[in-house]
Order: sequence, then structure tokens, then C-alpha cells
Amino acid sequence: MSVTHGGVGSPPSLRDGPQGAAERALAVLRAPQGDDRPALAGAIAGTRALEDDPRFNAGTGANIRLDGETIQMDAALMTDRGEFAAVAVIERVRNPIRAARLVLDSPHVMLAGEGATRFAHKLGLPDEVPRTPAAEAKYRDRLARLSEMVGKPGSDAIDWRDYWNFPGAMPPEIQAWARGGDTVGTVARDQGGRFAAALSTGGTSVTLYGRVGDVPIYGAGLYAGPAGAVACTGHGEEIIRRGLARAVYEDMSSGTPAEAAVAAAATAFPLESDVGLIAVDARGWGVAANREMAYGVAPAPAP
Ligand code: ASP
Repeated sequence: MSVTHGGVGSPPSLRDGPQGAAERALAVLRAPQGDDRPALAGAIAGTRALEDDPRFNAGTGANIRLDGETIQMDAALMTDRGEFAAVAVIERVRNPIRAARLVLDSPHVMLAGEGATRFAHKLGLPDEVPRTPAAEAKYRDRLARLSEMVGKPGSDAIDWRDYWNFPGAMPPEIQAWARGGDTVGTVARDQGGRFAAALSTGGTSVTLYGRVGDVPIYGAGLYAGPAGAVACTGHGEEIIRRGLARAVYEDMSSGTPAEAAVAAAATAFPLESDVGLIAVDARGWGVAANREMAYGVAPAPAP
């Protein structure tokens, strides 16, 4: 079975995206075509389907960062065999999760920045900037909302002028900005009872050049082991501080069902920070979030 999410904050009206991705993952789980890791192949297929859906912040549709130019993405995967691979702040690829899969077969666990981008191109991923009109519109919208926030009494918005590290000059409007994130992810259990998870994100748009979120950090954005698989979305810095996916996995491995484990983690997360989680174990699956979140499950649960 597979469970997918379109990122915390994604409206349920977009549910057809993650649902289609969960079904795509299930099809691969059921017909892995000789792959000796069907759970991993399924998790990647689900996440790749969402990377290709421009409505979500990963791959095509990834957020444009503060300067209005940069797109830097993170992706990671993990299997219940303890295999882990990631790319961080990769640019100019359409499917960062495919780059993470290539890292899995390399001598390394993670590649970052220009090295990750060059590695992906060297191994055959096309050189393309996954910039979309929708992502440009989202950027402009955030820019417009920014001016409303600046100087508002009680606003704890950050003055980005203090930190500006992009190669280009700062757009004049940028002084503070609300967080805008989302990630796409898949957890999968194959017919042999093996587990895997795969995550991909354009990161939060309110970030500096080179910012790395939770997705490629071991134990933070995702985790898999013999007891199941977990994948997160939300405020990356807070997810990293909590080692969230691994903490939820450990709860599951001590006997808490996936559904209860993700619910407890979402409830314990600070309310001011958004979070969403999906998990699968031997008995079932769970989805929880402290904001709205579009997700998919396949096979679809009985109504
Ligand atoms: N967790 C992602 C990040 O911090 C963003 C998100 O899922 O909202 O990069």
C-alpha cells in the first residue's frame, strides 16, 4: 500500500494529485518489474508523480526563493534496510528524487549544491529549470503580501536585509515575509512487507540562498525501518530540531500504531509551526497535520 501527501497547507481540493500519485505508487509496488526493492520503487514513483504536478512545491512547481530567481530543491529516500540517500539545494533538475536515487548507487549518502546538480546531469538527468508560471505568480503574491506585513505592529517578521546572501541584488520589496512551504512525499509497504519513504521539496520560499530544510537530513524529514515508514512536511527547522520522523518511527517500533503515532506527533508540534505526517506500518497507515493537507491512500480505504 502507499500513502502520499501534497505538503502541509495544500488544500483538500487538490486531493486528486496525491491520490493519483498513491495509485501510481501502488501500481509500481504490485508490478516492480524485477526491482529488488519494490517498496522503494513505489515510494519514488509516487513522489515523482507529485514532482511532475505543477500544483505542488517540488520539482516542476518548486518555490522560487526570496530573490525571485533561485530554485533550490531537496529530496531524500530511505528503505527499511537502512539505506538512505539525499540531495540538498540541487538546481536545474526536474526530478530531484531521481537524483537522490542515483546517489543511493554512488559511494556517498548526500550531495549538495552545485556538486549535486553536476552529478545529476552527468548521470543523465536533463538540465532544466523547473520554473512555472504558477510558481512565478506565487512569488509575486508573496511579494505583494510582504508589503502589508512590513512594519505591522506585533509582527515578528524577519528583516531579510540583515542576512541577504543571494548572488543578485535584493528586490526592494523584501524586508519580511511569511513562510511558504510544502513538500511532497510517499510512504510505501510492498507485498513482501518491506517499507520505504521518499520526499521532495522546493523548500520554503522564505529562505536564504543555500538553505537546507528537513527533507535531506537523516531522521528529520523521513525515516524507514522494519516497523514502518514515516514522512513529514512542515516547518523544516523545527522538524530538524525534533528529529521528527525518527522519533515517530521509534514510537511505532515500540508498538504504537502508525495512525496514533502521527496524531501524537502533530498534536505535540508547536501550534505556530505547521506540520504534516504520513506513515505506514504492518497493520495500517496514518495521516495527521495541524493545518489542512491534501493526501492520497492506495488502495483507497473503504468509505
Ligand atoms: N519541510 C519543508 C522544508 O522545510 C517545507 C514544507 O514541507 O513545508 O523545506
